[in-house]
Amino acid sequence: MPEPTGPWPASARFGPEGLAVGGVSARELADEFGTPLLVVDEEHVRARCRSFAALFPHPLYAVKAFTSRQMIRLVAAEGLNVLVATGGELEACLRAGVRGDRIAVHGNNKSDEELELAVASGVWLVNVDNPEELERLDRAARRVGATQAVLLRVIPGIGAGAHRAIQTGGAGTKFGMPLEVVPDALRRATELPNVRPVGIHAHIGSQVLEAEPYLAAVEVVLDLLERLRAEVGFEAEIVDLGGGFGVAYTDERPLELDALAPALLARIREGAVARGLPIPHVLVEPGRSVVGAAMVTLYRVGTVKESDGRTLVAVDGGMSDNIRPMLYGARYTVAPAGPPRPGSTVRVDVVGRHCESGDVLARDVELPFPVARGDLLAVAATGAYTYSMASTYNRVGRPAVVAVRGGRPRLWLRREDAVDLERLESSPPPAARSQPPPGVVVRPAVARDAASYLHAYASVAAERRYIQTEQVRHSPRELRRRFRRSWTGEGAHLVAVEEGRVVGGLSIRRDAHESTRHVATLGMFVTRDRRGRGIGSALMDEALRWARSVGVERVELTVYPHNVAAMALYRKFGFVEEGRLVRHAKKSYGYEDEILMAAWLGEPGTGSDAGEVVG
Ligand SMILES: *Cc1c(COP(=O)(O)O)cnc(C)c1O
Repeated sequence: MPEPTGPWPASARFGPEGLAVGGVSARELADEFGTPLLVVDEEHVRARCRSFAALFPHPLYAVKAFTSRQMIRLVAAEGLNVLVATGGELEACLRAGVRGDRIAVHGNNKSDEELELAVASGVWLVNVDNPEELERLDRAARRVGATQAVLLRVIPGIGAGAHRAIQTGGAGTKFGMPLEVVPDALRRATELPNVRPVGIHAHIGSQVLEAEPYLAAVEVVLDLLERLRAEVGFEAEIVDLGGGFGVAYTDERPLELDALAPALLARIREGAVARGLPIPHVLVEPGRSVVGAAMVTLYRVGTVKESDGRTLVAVDGGMSDNIRPMLYGARYTVAPAGPPRPGSTVRVDVVGRHCESGDVLARDVELPFPVARGDLLAVAATGAYTYSMASTYNRVGRPAVVAVRGGRPRLWLRREDAVDLERLESSPPPAARSQPPPGVVVRPAVARDAASYLHAYASVAAERRYIQTEQVRHSPRELRRRFRRSWTGEGAHLVAVEEGRVVGGLSIRRDAHESTRHVATLGMFVTRDRRGRGIGSALMDEALRWARSVGVERVELTVYPHNVAAMALYRKFGFVEEGRLVRHAKKSYGYEDEILMAAWLGEPGTGSDAGEVVG
């Protein structure tokens, strides 16, 4: 298969089946994991890490570009250290198993807690932003009882980068300290007992496509080092030149690292020798250039419409999974990810699904004609600053991230679903309507309900999506036997009946073990044509009445994450999510997670109402 032109991951191929990455077709990935989907070419990331490790003595991956546990582990396994900007990123790296002495911490407004966490975690370097932070870091280190190695972040007066918002090294920036204040700050750092200054940090910006700004920054830093030695008697062990190495998004030429690295290192070496300075270790902090081109986003086309002479193609993501076009006017390469469609093309704007007119992913891109609902599109080079800047605007969950290698996909981050989006809510939704709708009776099952019950139950099972059972194997006789005793101290079988026909059922059963006798587990269903009318609520209300009547204190159930309506119902009755049983169900169509929910009804006789909700 031909290698594609443009900024696609190394393993991307456009063949007769459409796009494949890492040997897995985009269509398979979309079918299995859904869209929008971020696809990581794992070998591409590894190769980028190896290039940096070969070209520079001490590269650190700036994790903010894309922070997932597997990415951090992968990059660390390839020999890169990591750079974090916040306590959250520091936690993520520590929890990924990276040792503190492989982590550097930067940021223009670190809190006391973050500084203390950094020192206590034994981080390698703290890049101090300003003189006041230096004092606070010294105090934090004293509290921990350690001495912290620090770099001073300076403003080299050279800003570079693709957009004003990501030029960080020029005058007026909020990052670092002006050159004039550096000698005093450094003098102070040498006096403070719990910090040890070891060098200078200068990061000029992001998405830099030329070598010149880096070479210019090196000159500024070398001049500064000369001055620091003369005025303060300080000799730097480390010069950190930051990151910012640009990548291709459309037709740009990415920064040539093979040429830049030796030039930078030589310039430092020669410049230090010429000034009679010791040759410092050089650190670089790539973020974007490690992951940017290694990832693509797959979207599915929904609405296609003409508006004022333009063709607008709406996909199932947008500014929530990639804010860069809106934030920086970033441009992207878009291609069809399905099988090639020979013939004519059409120029379109690819727009998102969010409630903003500016929610445009790519303007004026050429796609095969016609673009139709259901088509798969791939956007290239979406690895950096997309997922890490993602939001849940419009309550759209963040996409799944899947890594591919050698024909095998591996899920790195699952898709954020309705349960995830609810997890910060502190109050349950309003109380349930518990009266069954007119014409419906909820009562304990009786033997003659068996046939009708089985019919209803089988119809829900056949939908496959809502209950565990897909094929009903109960015999009517077995059910008749059960229904003869449908309200006992051990459990209850309830039915909702309309015009003599069973339209819903609920079974609840208490645990047998002595230590879990206070717990009951329930399962329920309502037939498709009767949903949304309060029948489920009426069944649940009756089930909880049974539970209280026999001294059950806690009721548990599981529900598939996609069954948003059922979860809403359960929450109304005080159920809360307690966990996720990952791939707990193996259904005919694949694995399903189950969400474990439980309601606390309270100890009998204590009047505890923790399980009840305000009305
Ligand atoms: C963001 C950042 C980086 C990484 O920038 P990229 O453009 O992703 O390479 C490196 N160093 C510092 C200090 C940063 O703020």
